[in-house]
Amino acid sequence: MHEVSCPACNAPTHYDLRDYLLLCPFCSASFHLDFETGRKDLYSDHFIVPNSCDQRQIKSIFIEWIRRLHHNPELAAKEYLITEIAGYSIPFWIISLEAHTQWKGLVKRESANMFDQGAGSSYLSETGMYRRNYRWAISSRRNIAENWGMLNLHEPKEPLEVDWDGFPLDSTLSRGRIDENLGVKVRNEQGVEEERTAYDVREVFDFKFSNSLPILAIQVPEDEALRRARHQIERYHVGLSKLHCDILVDNRTELEVAGIQLIHLPFWFARYIYQPRGLLRNFQKPKEKNLIFDGYAGGILKAEMAIVQRDKLWINTMVCLLAASGCVVMGVTFHGSFMLVAVFCLAVALISGSMALKSGKGGASPLKGDVQPVTSSS
Ligand SMILES: [Zn+2]
Repeated sequence: MHEVSCPACNAPTHYDLRDYLLLCPFCSASFHLDFETGRKDLYSDHFIVPNSCDQRQIKSIFIEWIRRLHHNPELAAKEYLITEIAGYSIPFWIISLEAHTQWKGLVKRESANMFDQGAGSSYLSETGMYRRNYRWAISSRRNIAENWGMLNLHEPKEPLEVDWDGFPLDSTLSRGRIDENLGVKVRNEQGVEEERTAYDVREVFDFKFSNSLPILAIQVPEDEALRRARHQIERYHVGLSKLHCDILVDNRTELEVAGIQLIHLPFWFARYIYQPRGLLRNFQKPKEKNLIFDGYAGGILKAEMAIVQRDKLWINTMVCLLAASGCVVMGVTFHGSFMLVAVFCLAVALISGSMALKSGKGGASPLKGDVQPVTSSS
């Protein structure tokens, strides 16, 4: 930590100089400090989306979510226990851009040409182009995995596997809503209620808009964010182009960047354990599961389910083992044919047991780093 005076209000305070932008706790100014020359540059394109949720709301959204999933809503509140709720205002570089893609590929013919059987004759060459607009969000944290679920928030409508961490801001912060009353709505000229997006309601950065959430520091510079966004959108568009043809031959994506700004976005994280009341209790230990919410309108962006496939397989194994041993007893006391049923049950138990063992590897573990917020002095 070093003492530096703010270029906007001159107040001296201690900063972590490893951060890319420093935030004045007195006047909320953001500035970059050049190590070599000592030169300070104010950064003005810094905004914040006000946090509009609190712990109580997150808890009630969680309970509503559980009630809708559970076959017995009355029991749900007793069996699910929230162990932790925490919120953060996390910095993202938001890159407004238009992506323009041209693709070339081969499409399989419906019926092969009978007279020309040369190699490749069962494919037709096709080309196409499309353009998309995004406000692409790239985390400005060094450890993008410090909070659970932040690694793959992008959920495209298309059937694609996402292996990048950036996401389109507008479609992400408008999904997963349970409570439609949250979020900011205004009446337009025709008197119809319209929702304002998280981007629309952003304010010039000020600590007060975090509404009690810790503000996380800005660690990654914008040129890196721009490079990452470019790379991620190219990959996304390769995936989109592949949906148009059977063999993608060429794909060219050009980006027209309209602007880049830094926005602190509010997120909430919750952890819960599931303690079943019935038969299930004997088969599984309570394990913590995670949820992530946006703090603008309380949408559930990602959720880990309490009973996963593996747990069901284990239960199946146990039930089949019980049935098998029951049949052995029956076979000994009544009739030998019960032994056949016992063998069958044992086989099913072995199969589901081995499947459970296989699927148990590489499960999602909660991730949390050293999250040290920047604090305001006002
Ligand atoms: Zn200041």
